[in-house]
Amino acid sequence: MKMNIFGYTLPKLRRSFESLGENPAKADIVFNGVYKNGARDFRGFGFAERVTEKLEETFAFDLPKVVERRESSDAAKLLLELSDGEFVETVLMRQRFGNCVCVSTQVGCNMGCKFCQSGQMKKRRDLNVEEIVGQVLALSGEFSCKIDGVSVMGIGEPFDSFQNTADFISIVSDDKGLAVGRRHVTVSTCGIVPKICEYADLPLPCSLAISLHAADDGLRSELMPINKKYPIADVLKAAEYYSNKTRHRVALEYIMLDGINDSDECARQLAEVIGGRDFYVNLIPYNSTDSEFRKSDTDRISRFCGVLKENGVIATKRREFGADLKAACGQLRSDHEKKF
Ligand code: SAH
Repeated sequence: MKMNIFGYTLPKLRRSFESLGENPAKADIVFNGVYKNGARDFRGFGFAERVTEKLEETFAFDLPKVVERRESSDAAKLLLELSDGEFVETVLMRQRFGNCVCVSTQVGCNMGCKFCQSGQMKKRRDLNVEEIVGQVLALSGEFSCKIDGVSVMGIGEPFDSFQNTADFISIVSDDKGLAVGRRHVTVSTCGIVPKICEYADLPLPCSLAISLHAADDGLRSELMPINKKYPIADVLKAAEYYSNKTRHRVALEYIMLDGINDSDECARQLAEVIGGRDFYVNLIPYNSTDSEFRKSDTDRISRFCGVLKENGVIATKRREFGADLKAACGQLRSDHEKKF
């Protein structure tokens, strides 16, 4: 069976060329051609016919099939079909600094966060590396655009599929690959502590966002069952390890849920648990799903933001994208019959 070239990081492709008896420098030429010039076969590289044939026998260039597309002024969404008949959704957001894609890492999710639509379908499997890379290439191909940022914030918990996520970010941030700046590649986790440290220890770590959503362990455990295993203090300690090691500032994501976690007291508590560490808080207006939760109103969010600032915490409110496409945070689900 042929191997899918989109699953290969550059170091892995070099090793593979070597084991085929080829000069690994050719792997650099191919990788660069695939991601920089959109090569989708081995014909244009000027290799000897014998080499081209060997590569053609070894590698395929398979991308997920686009089965539906939706577009609005600030966002676009694709429904992709994978080779085993599973579906995955992926989103493009047109932000001020450029085009940012939001990719999924799993079919379904096992984390069970109460407010999140994605978790309503239990994980069926991890996406493989080529399926995650395929989402980015499908979007840039379909909408003919350059990709300037990548958020690993779609369906799934990326640190529950750590190696695939690590290979994916290596491909998108590699100078010879898609060359997206590492500060513009963000992995978001619900807080799997040992994996946060492993992420910090990668040779070229990208940015990190942590879904905190509450500053009190009792409340966070109710909203996010993972908190029973990895409580807030441990998550923030791991985040501090990451920021000391990488010099990247960690984003703490905080969904504003009406009457649940949005009081002034909650803001003070959040500032207290942060305790002067160099994190910033990203306040996320909740996108309604079928759950019982409601979004906090705009004044409440501004006031919460104000209390954080009075207590020395940098905080921003996330712009909302793609609400009309049901493409916003937490609204993706692979069960396309229901949502697309
Ligand atoms: N599993 C990872 C990444 C996927 S979720 C994580 O937990 O971080 C990406 C972000 O969207 C998380 O912060 C998640 O808590 C948030 N989210 C989930 N449902 C949402 C909703 N309905 N409205 C707004 N944000 C939501």
